[in-house]
Parts: sequence; structure tokens; C-alpha cells
Amino acid sequence: MPTQDPSTGLRLDNQFAREVQGMYVRWQPEPAPAPRWLQFNDALAQELGLEAQALRGDAGLAVFSGQRVPDGAEPVAQAYAGHQFGYFSPRLGDGRALLLGEIVDPSGQRFDLALKGSGPTPFARNGDGKAAVGPVLREFIVAEAMHALGVPTTRVLAAVATGESVRRERALPGAVLARVAASHLRVGSFEYAARTKDAALLGRLAEHAIARHAPHLQGQRQRHLGLLEQVVERQASLIAQWMGLGFIHGVMNTDNMTISGQTIDYGPCAFMEHFDPEEVFSSIDHDGRYAWANQSAIAHWNLSRLAETLLPLLDDDAERAGALAMATIGKFDTHLSEHWSALLRSKVGLPDGADAADRLATEFLHLMQRHEVDYTLGWRRLGDAAAGDEAPLRAVFGAHAAALDDWLARWRALFGTVPGVERARAMAEVNPMVIPRNHLVELALEAATDYDDLGPFERLLAEVRRPFESRDDANPYIQPATREETANYHTFCGT
Ligand code: AMP
Ligand code: MG
Repeated sequence: MPTQDPSTGLRLDNQFAREVQGMYVRWQPEPAPAPRWLQFNDALAQELGLEAQALRGDAGLAVFSGQRVPDGAEPVAQAYAGHQFGYFSPRLGDGRALLLGEIVDPSGQRFDLALKGSGPTPFARNGDGKAAVGPVLREFIVAEAMHALGVPTTRVLAAVATGESVRRERALPGAVLARVAASHLRVGSFEYAARTKDAALLGRLAEHAIARHAPHLQGQRQRHLGLLEQVVERQASLIAQWMGLGFIHGVMNTDNMTISGQTIDYGPCAFMEHFDPEEVFSSIDHDGRYAWANQSAIAHWNLSRLAETLLPLLDDDAERAGALAMATIGKFDTHLSEHWSALLRSKVGLPDGADAADRLATEFLHLMQRHEVDYTLGWRRLGDAAAGDEAPLRAVFGAHAAALDDWLARWRALFGTVPGVERARAMAEVNPMVIPRNHLVELALEAATDYDDLGPFERLLAEVRRPFESRDDANPYIQPATREETANYHTFCGT
């Protein structure tokens, strides 16, 4: 049983530090000079079985601001490599993050608890090791939204202001976040281990990953192939979910792709508004490498990098190992199209439909694209139409509403014996009404950064935590930004 920290009740284990020596540097957080609370995630604390009472007070503040390392924690900066925009960096690692240890929840599931923005580590290169209030709150809000939307994701347990200013394009208030993740193992972790040419290190990392994420494979001869297969399957499912929500991660480098299948690193991410498969928000993604429609191809590419690192573990015979890896990676496209097709069918209200449902869903995407319809509202209002009220859907198509006539008639013809209202109810469970709209996220971060006002952040957070509930038309959290706001919207990596 791990040691319990008396002041916070945290009981941190250090399985990663014990099992994967060679993949980290022991390091201590830099204490924040004048910490203040930004936000504590009570719901997450409850789920993890933590002592929320102590954590949300001064004892928690001291830990999350790096002022006190809890008893039992052995903080480490993890080493990893990564392909960033296609180019390989052999040594990235946690430049400003520290894994404090692992929490084991009441059901026995293990989660990493890590700080981000807690000072420079030996991996910081030229970085300052810090984070600013804005990006920390962005990660908080988008991760909570993703969780509420049913998407596997890391989450933020706590966000604190450091009382220090960090230098970006301008001086910004500094902050630290405490992140909870199924693990922080990434494709880049395996790239790092493979690059060392230390077969034992790669082996230890793989055993650790299997114990953590695929314990049912432990001891099996083909466990490494099984692990690869599981990552391929989970990432295919994850990317399909992103696509269904219009989510654009923005920086799908191999160091930002998890082995667990959780979404990680909410830097320049954004949800698109009017549907455009080529949409990109990140200011540094000039070629559209990580555009909405490219995310599946990029995931496939990243997984091929993972497969390469595993080759020596798959088979002693290089040729056979290559064939096994290729066959497994080759399944990604099939998994993705199965997930995407199933998701589209449920979004269009024809979960039981066959090819005709796929065709109609694809046509609906084209209609939204051609007429620049808001992706979230387009899907959501289609549910109202299923229930018999076409007016809201026609309203989002505006002057182009007549373009829907023929499509709606063919769609209804597939309803069969399942009543429209019943279809509508199911559609409202997959087509959210509220996503974290970019302009509202910006307003919330601005108020917190420039005016110390967390009101807009807290109100937005409360809304994105119940994305599928109906709201009335006038609700500001459902409205898209104006076209001018959208046209000028860029997210920045200056995190
Ligand atoms: P990211 O783009 O946030 O996934 O980070 C890519 C790499 O840059 C990782 O190795 C980070 O640890 C590192 N990094 C990003 N920002 C900073 C910073 N302010 N200080 C130190 N390292 C950083
Ligand atoms: Mg990263």
C-alpha cells in the first residue's frame, strides 16, 4: 500500500518510476511564489475517490503549485521523442511537466497525476518550463467538454495561478495545472526507447504499457502485437469521435498521441463551426497537415511510427515482424471507417440503416459544407426534424433551406416502423447542443487573464458539462460566432 500524504490524503504509487528506469529524470517542481486557486475539479476528485475536502483547500493548493511534494510522490520528468510535423526529434520529454505518481481509484484503475507548468526540467531546452493562465484554463474546459461528450480524454484536476508572470508575446499571468491521465505513455515514448537501441529498455517500457493498458495480454507470446492492435483500434475509435464532433486537435505529433487512446494536449485545438473538411485553426499548421479531414491519415501515419519501434519485439525474424506490423497497421482504415460509419448512422438517426444510411449521411455532410452550415447545430437540428419540426433545421440553412427538400423526403422514407420522435431522442444523445465555442472560450480566457474574472470561465464550464441537454434558441452558448469572428480565429501554440 503506497504511503498516504497526511495533509492531502493523496496516496501516490510510483509504478512507472519503479519499472521503467531509463525513461525519466527525477526532478522537483519549482514552488510558485504566490499561489491562488483558479479551479478545482470536484467531480473528478469524487470519481477518483480522493479527499476533495483537503485537496480543494490550502493543502491542495500547496501541492498543485509545486510548493510541497506530497509524501509518497517521487516526481519524474518523463523522456520521450516525437515526430513533430513529420520531423523527428530524438529528445523532447517533459520540459515543463512532472509526473508526481499514480492514483489508484476505488475500482482499482490506475491514473497518472502530473503537474504541467511547474518549472523547467532537463528536457526544457529553451523553454521556460511555465504555463500561462489562458492555456491552462483552455485545457480544463476542453477536456471537461470532451469527457462530457463521451470522448476518452485526460482531465484537469486542478488549476492554480502562480502569482508569477510568464513571458510570451506579452507578459501573462502564470499557472500550473494538475492533469489526470490513464497514463502519459505516448507513441513518442516508444520512439525514445527504440532510439536508445537498448533492447531491455524497450522491453521494460512495453511490459509496463501492457500491464497498464492491456493487462489481459500479460504473459502471452504475442502480447506486443496485441498491444499494437489495441492502440490501433482505440485510436481509430477516438479519431472517429473527434470527427463526429468537428474537433480538430491541431498538433497531432507522435508525442501527443497516447497509448491509452485518450485525447491529450489541448494546445491549438478547436471545434469547427461551419462545416469545412479542410478546416485548420492552428497558426503554425501552414500546410493543413492536421486539418479535420486529415486526422485519420495522420493517426495512421503516427501508428506506423509506433509499429516500427515494436518490430524487434514482434518476431526475431525481421521479415516476419514487418509483415505482422503491416497487417496490424493495415486494420486502422477498416476500424476507422467502421466507427465513422456507425457514428454517422446514429448522428443521422438511422443507426439500424445500411448503405443507404451512409449515403444519406454523406449527402448531409455535403449539404452542410456547400451551404456553410454550423456543424454542431446542423446535426442537432436534424433531430428536431426527425421529431417533426423542420423549422429549426431550415433556419440553420437560412436562404438555402430549399436545398433540403429532396434529401428530407428520401431520409424520412427510411424511417420504417420506428417513430420519428424515438429517432429524435436517440439523435439528441449523439448530437450535442453545446460544444466549447471558440469565441466563448476566448472570452472566458481573456476575462481570467486580463481581469482576474473567472465568472465567464465557470459559466462556460457548467454549460459544456451538460452538452446534450436541450436549450432554447436564445441561449448564447449554442450560437456560432459571427463569420468575421470565425474567419479570424487562430489558435496558438504559445502555450
Ligand atoms: P507540446 O507542443 O506542448 O506538446 O510540447 C512539445 C515539447 O515542447 C514537449 O517536449 C514540451 O515539454 C516542450 N515545451 C513546450 N512548452 C514548453 C515550455 N514553456 N517550457 C519547456 N518546455 C516546453
Ligand atoms: Mg505534448
